[in-house]
Amino acid sequence: MKNKGFTTRLVHADRLINQPAHGAVHEPTTNSVLFEFKDVADLVSAFQGKKAAHMYGRSSSGSAAALQNILTNMEQGVGAVTFSTGMAAISATFISLFRAGDHLIVSHFLFGNSRNFLDTFRELGIEITYVDVTDVANVKAAVKENTKGVFLETIANPVTQVADLAAIGQLCAEQGLIYMIDTTMTPSYLFDAKSVGASLTLASLTKYYAGHGNALGGVVVDTGVYDWTKHEYIDARYRVADVNLWGLTQIRKKGLRDMGATLAPEAAHAISVGMETMALRLERTCHNAMQLASYLHNHPKVAKVNYPGLSDHPQHFISREYFKHYGGILSFDLQADVDCLAFLNELELVLAATHLGDTRTLALPVAQTIYYDNGAEQRKTMGISDNMIRMSVGIEDTDDLIADFEQAFAKV
Ligand SMILES: *Cc1c(COP(=O)(O)O)cnc(C)c1O
Repeated sequence: MKNKGFTTRLVHADRLINQPAHGAVHEPTTNSVLFEFKDVADLVSAFQGKKAAHMYGRSSSGSAAALQNILTNMEQGVGAVTFSTGMAAISATFISLFRAGDHLIVSHFLFGNSRNFLDTFRELGIEITYVDVTDVANVKAAVKENTKGVFLETIANPVTQVADLAAIGQLCAEQGLIYMIDTTMTPSYLFDAKSVGASLTLASLTKYYAGHGNALGGVVVDTGVYDWTKHEYIDARYRVADVNLWGLTQIRKKGLRDMGATLAPEAAHAISVGMETMALRLERTCHNAMQLASYLHNHPKVAKVNYPGLSDHPQHFISREYFKHYGGILSFDLQADVDCLAFLNELELVLAATHLGDTRTLALPVAQTIYYDNGAEQRKTMGISDNMIRMSVGIEDTDDLIADFEQAFAKV
C-alpha cells in the first residue's frame, strides 16, 4: 500500500488496512458503548495498558479506530486521534500538551473560533504572541525561553495568506518547538505536512474530508517528526511503548478520555464514506476556484481578488511549491458602489451560508458575519473590508458557476 497513489490507498484502506470481518469492504459501524471481556484478566490488562482493546466508547471504538488508521495512512504519520469536531481536536490537543507559564507563537491570520479558543487559553495563563507567519523572521523574533510551540494554518481565511511553512518548520526543528499546522484548507491530498517538518497536523473532518456537510469531526495526526522525549510534560504513565506515540497517548488520555469530545461512530462512518472521493472533489473544486478567481479578477465590478493561484498573490510562488493546487477558498472585494448583500441575494446557485469544503459553492459577506465580533479595527489589521465576500468553491459545472455570477453582476 505504501507506494500506491492517494486515492488507491484511500478506497482500499478499509479492506487492506483494517480488514473488517466477513470480507466486508467497509468497516462496520459499531454503536456499542461497552465491550465485554470473556476473561476478566483481559479487562485488567486493557485497563493497565498492557493490551490494546476497546473498553468504553468515549475512549475508543472500532469505527473511530478504523478512521484513525486511514487518516494516519493518508498523512503518512505514526498515529491519529479523532474528535467530535475540529474545534474539539484543537482545544483538546492544546490543553493536553501545554501549561500555564508556557509561551506559544500563533499565526495572526487564524480561523475565528481557534482565535477565540486561544483567548480563553490565554486567560488560563498561557502566553501567546500573534505574528504574521508569511515571513519566518517574525516567528524567529518572537521565540523566547519559555516558547513551546508554533500554531498556524496553511492558507488563511478569508484573505488567503500562505504561511512560510518550510522555513518555520526548520526553525521549530532547530529550537525544539512543537510545530502544529491546521491543514483544514489543504488536506493531505493537496499538502504534505511532513515535508515541511510539521509535528502535528490538526484538521476539521467536517470540511473537505467529509465534503457533504452531513457530519462533524476533527483529527490530530502525529507525523513522527517531533522527539517527544524533549517535552517534559508527558506524564510518566504515558511514556510507555513507542516514543513516537507518547504525545498522542497523552492527547488520547487527557484530551479524549478525560475531556470527552468523542467522535460518534455514525459520524466516523459518514466521514469515511465522504473521504473516498476527496481527491476527485478537490481536483474539481480547485479547478473551479481558479476559473472563478480569474473571472472575478477581470471583472470591472470587482476591486480585488485574493486567491493563491493568481500570479499577483503575494505568496503565489511558494504556494506552487507547497500545494498540489491552490485550494477552494477565495475572497474578493466588490467595487465600493456595489452592495455586497444585494449582490449575494442575486446569486441563484451559490448558497449564502457559513461553512466551507462542501460540494456546493457557498458565499457570505465577511465583515458582517464571521468577523463581525472582531470589530472594525481588528478587521482592518486583518485586511478585511466591508465589501468583502468569502467563497468556498464547490464541484458544480464551471460554466454554471460563471453564468450565475454573470447574471448577478448584470442586476447590480
Ligand atoms: C472549520 C474549521 C475548524 C473547526 O472545525 P469544526 O469541525 O467546524 O469544529 C478549524 N480550523 C479551520 C481552518 C476551519 O476552517
